[in-house]
Amino acid sequence: MSARQTSSGRIRGWPWLLLAPALALAVGLLPAWFAPWMYDDYPRWVLLSLGVVLSLMGVVAAQRRLAARLQRLGRVLRQAMQDRPENRIQARAMGVPESAATVLNELIEQLHQSRSASRGESARLLAHLRQELSNERAARERAQTDLTEARAAAQFKNDLLSNMSHELRTPLTAILGFSELLEKTPLNRQQAEYVSTLSKSAENLLSMINSLLDWNRIEAGRLSLQQISFVLSDCIEDVTGLLSPLAYDKGLQIALLIYHDVPLRVSGDPVRLQQIVTNLLSNAIKFTERGEIVIRVMREQGKDERCWLRISVADSGRGISEAQMERLFEMFTPSSTSNRTPSSGLGLAITQRLCELMDGRLEVESEVGIGTTFSAVVALRPQLERDSALVTWDGLRGVRLWLCDARSTTRLALLHHLEYWGLETRLFESPRRLATALLESDTQGPRLVIAGITPEALDDVQWRDVFGACRQTQRPCVALISSSDTEVQHAITDAGAARCLPQSIGGGPLYQALLDTLAGQPAEPGQKPLQDLEVLVVDNTVASRRYVSLLLDSLGAQTQEAGDGREAVRLWRERRPPLILMDVQMPELDGPGAAREIRAAESGSGARCGIIGMSAHLEPEERQEVIRAGMDEVLLKPFDERQLLRTLRPWVQQCRPADPPPQAADGADAPVRLAHGIAPELAELLLEELPLQIKELEEIYMRGERDAIRSAAHQIHGTAAFYKLAELRASARRVEQSLAAVGKGLPENLGDDIAEIREATNRVLRELRGE
Ligand code: ADP
Repeated sequence: MSARQTSSGRIRGWPWLLLAPALALAVGLLPAWFAPWMYDDYPRWVLLSLGVVLSLMGVVAAQRRLAARLQRLGRVLRQAMQDRPENRIQARAMGVPESAATVLNELIEQLHQSRSASRGESARLLAHLRQELSNERAARERAQTDLTEARAAAQFKNDLLSNMSHELRTPLTAILGFSELLEKTPLNRQQAEYVSTLSKSAENLLSMINSLLDWNRIEAGRLSLQQISFVLSDCIEDVTGLLSPLAYDKGLQIALLIYHDVPLRVSGDPVRLQQIVTNLLSNAIKFTERGEIVIRVMREQGKDERCWLRISVADSGRGISEAQMERLFEMFTPSSTSNRTPSSGLGLAITQRLCELMDGRLEVESEVGIGTTFSAVVALRPQLERDSALVTWDGLRGVRLWLCDARSTTRLALLHHLEYWGLETRLFESPRRLATALLESDTQGPRLVIAGITPEALDDVQWRDVFGACRQTQRPCVALISSSDTEVQHAITDAGAARCLPQSIGGGPLYQALLDTLAGQPAEPGQKPLQDLEVLVVDNTVASRRYVSLLLDSLGAQTQEAGDGREAVRLWRERRPPLILMDVQMPELDGPGAAREIRAAESGSGARCGIIGMSAHLEPEERQEVIRAGMDEVLLKPFDERQLLRTLRPWVQQCRPADPPPQAADGADAPVRLAHGIAPELAELLLEELPLQIKELEEIYMRGERDAIRSAAHQIHGTAAFYKLAELRASARRVEQSLAAVGKGLPENLGDDIAEIREATNRVLRELRGE
């Protein structure tokens, strides 16, 4: 229907409603107006009023009628809107024009149709949504079940792996330990090869177990880092020292450069930092056939609160192709094509995650055939900057030193140290030149010579000339050799070098070695590292216990064994050994339990023995628990001689009985002798510390407290050992021994022995004050 039809319909259908009042008005008014003669008898106004009343009545009637129709129309429309299709507008009954009724009915029909269409659509949508919702609910329930199952499986896997690792490590400890001991016995070449293969395979297996365990911990989010204060250079040098023999075996050179702006002491997780460096360095050694590996440690950014260090390991190996590079940090995807080198592909993935845990990253740059540089950037908290360190490196300042090393990187690394220590260094590239210059030198010649040699160059007659010239001109020569073979080292000292050290020696030990050489101290102390140190070894596994005891014995210690914690506490009460190495997990009374009992018994006596835990597997939280129980450190099994010595280092200085008094160069007794190179600050400390210690000893002696006297004497013994004060050390030890010899009460001549300690102390103090 068109708009035109609609409007015309409306005009034609409704006029009478409007015309009704007008007609009434006309009937009433027009005769009165135009035919006055007809109504002479009536006044005109009466007619007029009648007309008005009639027309008003007409209007009212018309309005009511109109309102009634409109109401009906509204009702019908409302019902139609409420979707009652039987309600349609009846034109005649409602007095609505036909055309309008048609239009309205059509509109109602359309509305109805679109309503039912949209109702159908909504019903369909609703059904769809309901289906989706129920699918979703089912999926969620399935996921929840899967998650619970996966969690249970992961927990089971973790537990299994931890237990397995513990079970595997214990026999591995024995295999590795006994192969190490076997290697020290006389073997023919074939036997030596078998043993070496045996221990290498066991080491690979162990490293695989460790990697898997670490990855498991990282994935489970259970790897938390420790915050321990440690000396950064020691931490890195330990790794390079440990791995350098592998590099030397392949004829590779290793140089370590720690820049001077790197803090001396930092706080962080030294074990995990070592793990990062170990992974990178062992890979560099594994994938490099010739050339050198340079490890650089530098400060990247940050100063006070935190600093980011960059530890880069650059090798001259085969490099990594672009294709390999893409999958480099994915686990179980070793890109090695060589099947000689066992690889799980876990190392780099773990290293990367460790760097990220230390708020840093792992970077790699590589060129095929040229080499690879991995850089670990990690955040640590600086604790002591080099400049503000108590120990100053003044003992060698101004000393003239000639250095000869044909390899530019190792020369650079050495020069880096020598310049820092203030030596006046002259460089030589060829041994022939050095030998000639030595023979021609006068009083302006060097006071020390360093010769950096590779084992292949050893047969070179020019080096023999250098050693000969050194001997002839009485210039002590320190040889640094890239070999860990003691026979090679002996051959060099036999040829004339004052001492021969591995090239991987750390800065601190090299400094001490140069000082000792300058002072004419013999190279070999002639004493084993743990000479006469009493150690109680506690382990319920006989093989592990025997291995540890044998290892300690071979290092000069005097060992005693206990099979569990209960026996350990009993033996400790009887003999009071200064050091205990104790397994953590044991039946009856475990390690932490025994440590608690020992610490409780010690309390108030002032004495404190060292308790080192041994464990095949320990989570960081468990480690904290063990330390809280009273243990001082925990050694992870299996460990070798080097790791054992490193852990025992702090106790060895304190506990070791007196060395025989050192002999002076001319063979006469040296009554009081300070260690060479004692920095003035350390001497100051000694001046403060020693009078307090002796005062305490004398006071305790006056009170007659037996155990406390022993512990005070032990403390003085430790101080004297640290500063190499032979006489004081011997007298303090005498007091300790005489107290140990008499079971109860005080020995007769204790007063005299203590007076001797006092005299020895006074002599040291006088010497220190320069009186
Ligand atoms: P794994 O733990 O088995 O040694 P990594 O994750 O440490 O494995 O290394 C993965 C792979 O990355 C190695 O198989 C090797 O192909 C490559 N790669 C790692 N470091 C070097 C490197 N310095 N030079 C060349 N290739 C390397």
